[in-house]
Amino acid sequence: MNRRSFIKSTGIASLGLGLKIDKTYSNNSLSNFPIVIATWDVKNATKRAWEILSSGGNSLDAVEQGCRVEEANKKGQSVGIGGLPDREGNVTLDACIMDYYGNCGSVVYLKEIKHAISVARMVMEKTPHVMLAGEGAKKFAISMGFKKENLLTEKSKKDWIKWKENEEYKPIINIENHDTIGMLAIDKNQNISGGCTTSGLAYKMQGRVGDSPIIGSGLFIDNEVGGAVATGLGEEVLKTVGSFLVVELMRQGYSPSDACKIAVKRIVKKPNSNYKNFQVGYIALNKKGETGTFSIQKGFSMTQYNKEGNINFDSPYYHKQG
Ligand code: ASP
Repeated sequence: MNRRSFIKSTGIASLGLGLKIDKTYSNNSLSNFPIVIATWDVKNATKRAWEILSSGGNSLDAVEQGCRVEEANKKGQSVGIGGLPDREGNVTLDACIMDYYGNCGSVVYLKEIKHAISVARMVMEKTPHVMLAGEGAKKFAISMGFKKENLLTEKSKKDWIKWKENEEYKPIINIENHDTIGMLAIDKNQNISGGCTTSGLAYKMQGRVGDSPIIGSGLFIDNEVGGAVATGLGEEVLKTVGSFLVVELMRQGYSPSDACKIAVKRIVKKPNSNYKNFQVGYIALNKKGETGTFSIQKGFSMTQYNKEGNINFDSPYYHKQG
């Protein structure tokens, strides 16, 4: 489907709403592979993944290395070091990774180890399990040579102390205040892998785990079909097994863009859905290297790096206000 028919089929009235359509993502049938896409504006992360893909590397190394860039970025308050803590002041990380053989690895409630994505990869490659949690995950990481460090930066500590003054916990995501890094890549051999890494919701209840490390919710890959990854209010993604749904829709023949859109609609059309107050965004790519994105609210974006460059696109969205 080319850009024109995409606009027609989705009835994008956004032209009339004054949106900058050239910067809003629409299906790009020229993309091909290799290609890497990621949630949010993370050009440094996609750049690192592209270096690997464009020099003939595989999609698994590309997504792992790309995710590590954001995990090491102290300024990002939703991933790796610098992530905002739970209500008790603990920074706990969740991550998962999936390769083109259908193997996967995941860590949840991981403390003091910033590269959760690499620990997830080790779980996949060095253990008979898919998921390790908490103390066990940390112990395993240390046995694999990962170094312990304090993940609570001064800035995140300050923000948490300020939050504690009111302790006003609303289980609603501020639509501008989260940036789980989900990354999908297809390499020159047409193999697809994906990774997802996060510190989860800021000021969550101690012990809370969201969608991001859950295979099928935060991330799903089927190398015959494509891959999808989610960001936003994890509870809503979990309830609809979002990323698996997107991949299954692509299996039925939907484009990545349309599959993301239908998965978003699955959330907003639920009876009593409170969708106006939270954000969920999906990105997806298929076996041909076509990509797509869709979110509930305005403000989500996807970064895409292929031979045409490293570009951040605004995502089309469901909830048109005003
Ligand atoms: N999906 C993440 C979670 O619920 C949050 C996010 O994407 O910001 O933990």
